[in-house]
Amino acid sequence: MAEKKRDYYEVLGVEKNADDAAIKKAYRALAKKYHPDMNPGDAEAEKKFKEASEAYAVLSDPEKRRQYDQYGHAAFDGGGGPGGFGGFDFNSADFGDIFGDIFGDLFGGSRRSSGRGSGPMKGANIRTSVRITFEEAVFGVEKEIELTLKDECTSCHGTGAKPGTSPETCSKCGGKGQVVFTQQSFFGTVRNVQTCPDCHGTGKVIKDKCPNCRGTGYIANKKKIQVSIPAGIDNGQCVRIRDKGEPGSNGGPRGDLLVEVVVGRHPIFQRQDENIYSTVPMSFAVAALGGEIVIDTVDGKVIYEVKAGTQTDTKIRLKGKGVPSLRNRDVRGDHYVTLVVQVPDKLSHEAKDFLRQFDAQTGDTLNAANNITSSGSEEQAGGAGKKKKKFKF
Ligand SMILES: [Zn+2]
Ligand SMILES: [Zn+2]
Repeated sequence: MAEKKRDYYEVLGVEKNADDAAIKKAYRALAKKYHPDMNPGDAEAEKKFKEASEAYAVLSDPEKRRQYDQYGHAAFDGGGGPGGFGGFDFNSADFGDIFGDIFGDLFGGSRRSSGRGSGPMKGANIRTSVRITFEEAVFGVEKEIELTLKDECTSCHGTGAKPGTSPETCSKCGGKGQVVFTQQSFFGTVRNVQTCPDCHGTGKVIKDKCPNCRGTGYIANKKKIQVSIPAGIDNGQCVRIRDKGEPGSNGGPRGDLLVEVVVGRHPIFQRQDENIYSTVPMSFAVAALGGEIVIDTVDGKVIYEVKAGTQTDTKIRLKGKGVPSLRNRDVRGDHYVTLVVQVPDKLSHEAKDFLRQFDAQTGDTLNAANNITSSGSEEQAGGAGKKKKKFKF
């Protein structure tokens, strides 16, 4: 309560008998001069702006102005008045309207855009996905996808207005697409910028809608689009196709189409970056004696010479049989093969006899005594058990 409240007419600099237009004009000039947006960080300007706003809120309302003329500031002081800051209700429904039209034209020209301005804007991107095989990912593939794309309506050329008519500037926001209203609260001035409820931010209202597109300005068409999927692409990566997204607005370019690649699983191959992994079985005889095995690769079958005495889980590398690099398809990863000795589960009587003989022979070559006894006894026990089970079938 430091200083005495100034007279509202004095604050606005108008005569006691000033009409509504004069009051509005005076306030507009002050608001423009002292608005916090124009004077960032200037506490004195902010104080002046609040003072002027309060004066205007009272003097622009015939009933409040009458009360003020009769009782002065006392009309709105605590006790008898409607209460609240300054004695009048800053949250009343019409408050936004009082300031809305003033700030609408006050800040219209220079107000910063929140993204939906009237300039050209690129359309939104569209995302879709395409399923390809493991091999198609390795070597690349051309795919055709079908998708619904919006195109500018040929009847109204995208305006949405019936041919022969044109969209009108929205009267609520003056074509800006946004409405600004200011509220005084106990904590100070609060400016709210909202998308215009009448035109939904476009700044235009269509009275007669184009019958061809029902006023949307666009027609949805099914389109077939060729997608070139490069060799080396991996699961989850995207191919970008320019200008196949949503149409832009106000002459802006179309958005892009992003095609996510979903790579199917392969029954044999796994992939990690540019390398391929697989497991190849080899017989015990080949592992022991050495010999040729056939390995499947993405380039077809290759014959590999297994050295005698190759252990199970031996890993070999087939250089350059992996996945091409996305950047340079001549540079390829490798194919790593794990060789696994296959233990046969079905054996003829003859084969079993051979194996027993083999076991007896190789058992003799083992040096450690405990190895001989333990492996021998296990073998017998296991063999006996298996026999019993088999004969039950
Ligand atoms: Zn149309
Ligand atoms: Zn509007």
